[in-house]
Amino acid sequence: MDRKYHFETISVKSTQPQLDKITPVSMPVYLSTTYERNPDGSYNDDYIYSRADNPNRRILESSLAQLEGGDIAYAFSSGMAAVNAVFQSLSPGDHLILPDDIYFNIYLLMEEVYCRWGLQYSLIDMSDTQAVRQAFRPNTRLIWLESPSNPQLKITDIAYTIKIARENGALVAVDNTWPTPVLQNPLELGADIVVHSTTKYFGGHSDVLGGCIVLNKQAELAERIRKIQIYSGSVPSPFDCWLISRGIQTLPLRVMAQTDSAMRLAEFLNQHAKVEKVNYPGLPHHPGHEIAKRQMKAGFGAMLSVLIKGGQQPAVQVSNYLKLFTTATSLGGVESLVEHRKSVEGAASKTPDNLLRISVGLENIQDLVEDWRQALDRI
Ligand SMILES: *Cc1c(COP(=O)(O)O)cnc(C)c1O
Repeated sequence: MDRKYHFETISVKSTQPQLDKITPVSMPVYLSTTYERNPDGSYNDDYIYSRADNPNRRILESSLAQLEGGDIAYAFSSGMAAVNAVFQSLSPGDHLILPDDIYFNIYLLMEEVYCRWGLQYSLIDMSDTQAVRQAFRPNTRLIWLESPSNPQLKITDIAYTIKIARENGALVAVDNTWPTPVLQNPLELGADIVVHSTTKYFGGHSDVLGGCIVLNKQAELAERIRKIQIYSGSVPSPFDCWLISRGIQTLPLRVMAQTDSAMRLAEFLNQHAKVEKVNYPGLPHHPGHEIAKRQMKAGFGAMLSVLIKGGQQPAVQVSNYLKLFTTATSLGGVESLVEHRKSVEGAASKTPDNLLRISVGLENIQDLVEDWRQALDRI
C-alpha cells in the first residue's frame, strides 16, 4: 500500500479483497453488502447490493430450484418468512383452504395477522377429498398442502387435490419441509408453489434458520414473490446461505439414513404393549399408506408420532426418560428430538394429549430403539 495514506485510510483499504488469482474449491462467504460499479455504470454479474442478491444466495437459490425440479427459487430468512411471502402475494378478499392440522405457526400467522388484512380461510381435513371439494368458494385463490402433516402424519393425495384445485381455478402450494425433495417433488405432481423451512433437513444441523419458495416459470407470480423478497428484505445472510448450502451437500445421505431408522423405530413402537398408536405412513395400517407409497419416492420420511397408553402424564414421563432423544422443538437435524406437542400448541390444539412427536436423527438405530425400550419400561 502506498505510504502516503494515513493510518485510518490504510485500516480500511488494506483489508479490501484482491481475489483475482485464487480459485477456492469450496464456496467462500461473501459478506460484502455492496458491489463496485464499473466505469460505464454496469455491475459485474448484476451484483449491486446484497439485499437484492449476493453470490452465496444465488448459489443456494440455484441449488434449491434444481433439487425441487423447479425453474426458480427464492431464499428467505426463515420458513415463516417464505410462507409470509406467499400470503403477501395474494390480495385482500382472497380465500384460502388450509389443512386443519397445518404447521401451527402458519395458522397463527393467518388468524392473527392476515385476517386483519382481508384474507379469508377455511381449515379442512385434507385427507377427506369430499370435504376439500366442498370448501371451494368463488374467491378461493390458494390451497395449502402439507403431506405428511404435523404432528399426526396425515397423508394428502397431492395429485388428486391439484386436480380439484385446477377445476376451481385455484393455485396449489405445498409445504414440502418434512419429506424434502429427496422423497417427494410436488412440482412434478403439478403444484404451483413449493415452500420449505430450510431450517430443518436442508440445514440439517440445527444451527441456521432459513426458508424458500420454489416455482415453475409463472412470470407474474415469480415476479411478485421476488419483489416481496427484496423490497421487504426478509432474506438470509450470506453466511446463512453458506450453512444451508453446506447442509445440502449431505441432504440425500442424511434423509435416507434417518428415514430408514424412522421406519425401524416405527415398527418397534408399533408392536410395543405401552403404545396406543404409531402415526407413520410407512406402516401398512396407516390410512394414507398406499397414497404415500405412490407419491413419495424412496421412503416415508424421518418424522413420526406416537400415542402412549394412559394419557398425557405417562407420555410426558417417557419423553423425560429418553436419554438419546433431546426434549426440544424443531426437527430434521442430525440429533434425535422428541416433543409433547400439546404442551407447545396449547389448549385450543386438536393434538391428542398423549402424542409425542419424534424427529429421528443419525445416531445408531439399535441405540435409539433400546432407548425407547428402557423409557417405556419405566412407566
Ligand atoms: C419449521 C416449519 C415451518 C416454519 O419454518 P421456520 O424456519 O421455523 O420459520 C413451516 N412449516 C413446517 C412444516 C415446518 O416444520
